[in-house]
Amino acid sequence: MNSYSSSSDTTKALLNWYTTHRRALPWRESNDPYRVWISEIILQQTRIEQGIPYYYKILNRFPDVQSMANAPLDELLKLWQGLGYYSRARNMHFAACQIVNEYEGLFPSSYENLIGLKGIGEYTAAAISSISFGEAKAVVDGNVFRFLSRFFGLQTPINTTEGKKQFTQIAQKLIDPIHPGDYNQAIMDFGSIQCTPSGPDCQTCPFSVNCFAYSQGVVQKYPYKLPAKEKQDRYFLYFCITDGISTWIQQRKNRDIWQDLWEFPLVEETSPIQPEKHFINKYLNADSDTKVLIGKPTHVKHVLSHRVIHATFLPIRIDTSSIVSGSLQKIPLTELNKFAIPRLIERYLTNHAPFNLIL
Ligand code: SF4
Repeated sequence: MNSYSSSSDTTKALLNWYTTHRRALPWRESNDPYRVWISEIILQQTRIEQGIPYYYKILNRFPDVQSMANAPLDELLKLWQGLGYYSRARNMHFAACQIVNEYEGLFPSSYENLIGLKGIGEYTAAAISSISFGEAKAVVDGNVFRFLSRFFGLQTPINTTEGKKQFTQIAQKLIDPIHPGDYNQAIMDFGSIQCTPSGPDCQTCPFSVNCFAYSQGVVQKYPYKLPAKEKQDRYFLYFCITDGISTWIQQRKNRDIWQDLWEFPLVEETSPIQPEKHFINKYLNADSDTKVLIGKPTHVKHVLSHRVIHATFLPIRIDTSSIVSGSLQKIPLTELNKFAIPRLIERYLTNHAPFNLIL
């Protein structure tokens, strides 16, 4: 008899598997809710290998929730640069302030209170409450959908309300009430190591005898999903303006992708854009006496989860900064790297030198 003997056979098998295959991850060194929270938010849309350096970076700069709440949002956005889905960082900063202001800096310990924090949904609240506080709340993520759908042969599409409800109920029945944190981490690890999307290791799987999908030879059909909507195309024309010393940027303020990040002045259209002069005049009050040199445009395609951005970057060299629109923020070229910018612009700047134009 092992320490997990109070659970169902499926749960016991999962926990036993976890004893042997448990991944040594930095946030598993303790059950500190602050660390679990940071890791779970990072891993929402990021692979573990990519997320680990960001986890250390954020923890080094903000060792506790107070230090994060006391810092400006821009600082967290800068640390987050390259991870994408920046609303995660904005919500994280907001939630840190909520914890400091509403809970005197102590992480709330129940699922009900955790889910009231900005950016913490059912999955993250279940992960933190079970791992850090021993509450029996089952997580349901892509790994859980995959394993449960294959093992039980569940055909309800997972991207429907009905599917979410059904899988949550089953996961909740399976959770070990004595070791809920271990159970949740076990099923997540099992899905990402053994019952993987394209190459599940069914030969060595402890569930192969009873697994519905494996016994029917239809593993790849699971989980069932309704077809995804088509991605929306957007067309961005960016102006990389310089007078040789400075450049001009603006902060995205609308409720849209990349909110609060910085970017070059932009024109957006719903169809492909030609970088014509009247677009340039939107930001430059140039007359016939002003020298304006327009460089070669560069096209960059950037794919997001629901959108494809077709960006054109246009280098522009001017001889006097007085012609640039006052709505833009002027910064020294040497300080551009201090601002949090979208990955698209970072990619462009890594491969091109738009400020090398000479008049
Ligand atoms: S037998 Fe294969 S499909 Fe079934 S649970 Fe195991 S790894 Fe997943």
